Amino acid sequence: MDEKLICQCCGMPLTEDVVSKNIDGSINNKYCKWCYVDGKYTYKDMNTLIDACVKHMVNENFTEEQAREYLKEILPKLEHWKK
Ligand SMILES: [Zn+2]
Repeated sequence: MDEKLICQCCGMPLTEDVVSKNIDGSINNKYCKWCYVDGKYTYKDMNTLIDACVKHMVNENFTEEQAREYLKEILPKLEHWKK
């Protein structure tokens, strides 16, 4: 699998463990398994995704505000949000 693939919804790097699958069981290398589940996209609105991601990104070196800024910067560049 190409190491440079990232989820086109949340931007996380797609490794074999987190890549999503299509309903027929084939690999869908555009999305991670949290953003594309059973043939459906989990996030239809960017703010919902940001709220979900921020909680996992915050740590002693990365504040919630920084996480939000970062996501607002990268998410609009991803295919899922360009539509
Ligand atoms: Zn994702």
